[in-house]
Amino acid sequence: MKLDAKIPQGPLAEKWSKHKFNLKLVNPSNKRKYTVIVVGTGLAGASAAASLAELGYNVKAFCFQDSPRRAHSIAAQGGINGAKNYQNDGDSVYRLFYDTIKGGDYRAREGNVYRLAEVSVNIIDQCVAQGVPFAREYGGLLDNRSFGGSQVSRTFYARGQTGQQLLLGAYSALNRQINLGKVKMFTRHEMMDVVTIDGEAKGIVTRDLISGAIETHSAHAVLLCTGGYGNVFYLSTNAMGCNVTAAWKAHKRGAYFANPCFTQIHPTCIPVTGDHQSKLTLMSESLRNDGRVWAPKTKELAEKLRKGEIKVTDLKEDDRDYFLERKYPAFGNLVPRDVASRNAKEMVDDGRGVGASGIAVYLDFAESISRLGEDAVRAKYGNLFDMYQQITDENPYKQPMRIYPAVHYTMGGLWVDYNLQTTVKGLYCLGEANFSDHGANRLGASALMQGLADGYFVIPYTLGDYLATIGPKAVDADHPAFEETKKSVVDRINKLLALKGNKTVSEYHRELGHIMWEYCGMARTEEGLIKAKGLICELREDFWKNAIVTGVNEEFNQNLENAGRVADFLELGELMVDDALDRKESCGGHFRLESQTPEGEALRDDDQYAYAAAWEYKGDNQPETLHKEELVFENVKLTQRSYK
Ligand SMILES: Cc1cc2nc3c(=O)[nH]c(=O)nc-3n(C[C@H](O)[C@H](O)[C@H](O)COP(=O)(O)OP(=O)(O)OC[C@H]3O[C@@H](n4cnc5c(N)ncnc54)[C@H](O)[C@@H]3O)c2cc1C
Repeated sequence: MKLDAKIPQGPLAEKWSKHKFNLKLVNPSNKRKYTVIVVGTGLAGASAAASLAELGYNVKAFCFQDSPRRAHSIAAQGGINGAKNYQNDGDSVYRLFYDTIKGGDYRAREGNVYRLAEVSVNIIDQCVAQGVPFAREYGGLLDNRSFGGSQVSRTFYARGQTGQQLLLGAYSALNRQINLGKVKMFTRHEMMDVVTIDGEAKGIVTRDLISGAIETHSAHAVLLCTGGYGNVFYLSTNAMGCNVTAAWKAHKRGAYFANPCFTQIHPTCIPVTGDHQSKLTLMSESLRNDGRVWAPKTKELAEKLRKGEIKVTDLKEDDRDYFLERKYPAFGNLVPRDVASRNAKEMVDDGRGVGASGIAVYLDFAESISRLGEDAVRAKYGNLFDMYQQITDENPYKQPMRIYPAVHYTMGGLWVDYNLQTTVKGLYCLGEANFSDHGANRLGASALMQGLADGYFVIPYTLGDYLATIGPKAVDADHPAFEETKKSVVDRINKLLALKGNKTVSEYHRELGHIMWEYCGMARTEEGLIKAKGLICELREDFWKNAIVTGVNEEFNQNLENAGRVADFLELGELMVDDALDRKESCGGHFRLESQTPEGEALRDDDQYAYAAAWEYKGDNQPETLHKEELVFENVKLTQRSYK
């Protein structure tokens, strides 16, 4: 199949307006004849379900949590970008577009990114209208702060709980539609597969997580808004439930998976403390507005710190290396995440890491506390400081935080065209689950923006075009495809429940995560990736022989849930490695040690790799086929990214 991204022709700033005009419409009285399935109720899913129901479509919404408002979006701390230019500091739609394309190391589509920047201003208005309590300045105007990779303040925030407040807004809109009967909400339901008829998505198969009932649901179109797959690394800042199953099943039904190896490693997380951990905690990027990142100037000092022979507060200014400010004076502590993460790793590799493990650097607020006062710092970041203290038992008002990079976000995901449609007709993908807008590295505060752009402002237009084309004729819910797909779901559950080995599913997950982090994490080499591929294949084989899955299907069985998700991660992991192997260049979060500038920055190879890699599933244990979507840059010049 030839990939057609369907990017509209014409000037960048007119593409979306023209496209909207050219899309077919469904008239208001016909909308009620269509049913749309929305899987996921995070920011992408809740905003899409509410908006489509508001338009008049019947929506069936699904999530695996006990309430839509517990989607992982609730964890987002720092903020959401919007090119409002309230600060009058030089921001514009074009600048947000440019920063995002550059931040993504020129591996995203111009057309998509411009549209994202364009609708960012509407998102802020929409959320304010819903009552989202964004922080305000003394005069009452909405406040902004800065995030990495930009030199303007365009990030709107609600203390350190922006995701939660935005989700409450979307959730209220969703609840309104549930109350009106336009959305039927299925909580505690896990999507297990997509049903396709003649190559078009016509429904899903779900498992009721309380009773174990396997159900089929039909619809005119299916939207996957199922979040990212960072938990393939086992340890990440993602919620424990985040998984790839929905996207992976769609992949096996024909949806191409794009840039799977593009993972974001966030520079400021609380460091790992030992093997007991199953989760890592983010310290929001917003902290880098006022916190300064440093490591001791010498290995000797670092060693004394590690041994407890000196205290961090004993170190004089001259003993500290504010390495980001030193190396990148133009952006300082607010360089993009990939750059900040690599530099922290460099410090640790150089023997200058701190903390008992030596795998951390400092994030220090002493200067801002003395400049602004402790109360001002508390007002901005209080809940993050409290969280840090509760986890580490150290007071960040008195001594610097210890931080280290951790897996945080996945830029890869299901390939979608400009309409957010996957390579399966009628199957759409929104939010973190798709690959569309962030290239090889997402800028901070842009995930919330993208999820809400997709849900509130893109899909309500683009879905109508498809629905108008297929017409409102009811979907044949008795079509054999539903029973066949259901049977394959039941067979797989039985296969998992038959596993009576001696190793827990979590042990496999932890081992997979270790392989992924070691060989397909912050730095990758051809040799390491080849090794990882072999290790993952062995681990997967072993899983299907020696894992133990307890309990039965007809009960609340988290062991079974987890087994299904880890089995999918074991397949995805191999594809991530294949993708990383194919891309011999470094770009953004994909850092191949073989491809770096003399200063150790990511060295792209635009002649060979200016494409989005879209992988086609070819059957169990078969190599996937790579399709390349060439990226066309008509408005920005591809240059070596510099934040100096
Ligand atoms: C700690 C943390 C802080 C962050 N802070 C920021 C920030 O400040 N700014 C920013 O822009 N971004 C931030 N991000 C990233 C951002 O939060 C996420 O990318 C975004 O919220 C994802 O939204 P989503 O709607 O795509 O998916 P999610 O919010 O992950 O929602 C996924 C939904 O899919 C459902 N689901 C998944 N699989 C299935 C299945 N098989 N069956 C049924 N339902 C399913 C889930 O139940 C859930 O409802 C942060 C991320 C983390 C981890």
